[in-house]
Amino acid sequence: MSRKPFIAGNWKMNMTVATGTKLIADLKPLIKEAKCDVALCVPAILIPAMVKAAKGSKIKIGAQNVHFADHGAYTGEISAEMLKDYGVKYVVIGHSERRQYFGENNDTVNQRTLAALKNELTPIVCIGETLTERDAGDTENVLARQLELGLHGVEDVKQLVIAYEPVWAIGTGKTATDAQAQETVKFIRKKLSKMFSVKDANRVRILYGGSMNAGNCKGLMAQPDIDGGLIGGASLKTDFATIVNFDK
Ligand code: PEP
Repeated sequence: MSRKPFIAGNWKMNMTVATGTKLIADLKPLIKEAKCDVALCVPAILIPAMVKAAKGSKIKIGAQNVHFADHGAYTGEISAEMLKDYGVKYVVIGHSERRQYFGENNDTVNQRTLAALKNELTPIVCIGETLTERDAGDTENVLARQLELGLHGVEDVKQLVIAYEPVWAIGTGKTATDAQAQETVKFIRKKLSKMFSVKDANRVRILYGGSMNAGNCKGLMAQPDIDGGLIGGASLKTDFATIVNFDK
């Protein structure tokens, strides 16, 4: 089963219109020949300018969150329809920083995922265990629960992307080994095949995220179940192009 590789950047709360536009302009010629799908998930306020900056290139613009309601009295929030209106294609949902600092949980992840799918946005649903959970031998239970609750009611799992991001590897410079990442992503695919079907699970793209960079991307991307990366720090510089060109 061949799945098209997908490299997505997550700018988090970084960049301005000027620095973001420059980075995209610098990346454009470097990733011209890329064979994978490429996205940059940018702060909401930068979406219109970055959609414009990325026009005519391989880069699709994503958001970092989406509210679950269609519209209404939710001060400070942004709906899926609004994102779509601005040309957004992907949306990161349930990033561990949102779970840790903003009270996100499997239930809100589920609601946001369903809202994104309803509006034809591709959710990048983030799951991952903390170091305490891994050390306690709880990794598979935690991931299974995040998938069962987070994807409850999803009809067509092929429409979404999963990002496996061990919390202990995000922004720490501590990457999972190739073997650790492969073993865990393989477990995720097996779990998806039980929740949906083997055929559909084999078509879902599963990304690895957690200190992936220009130096370690080749080894991670060579793993049979890893279909791409969700890249934080390294997406803020032209190193991102080296990751996008992992197969060169
Ligand atoms: C992320 O933000 O999803 C991430 C993986 O960050 P970093 O690459 O910096 O660890």
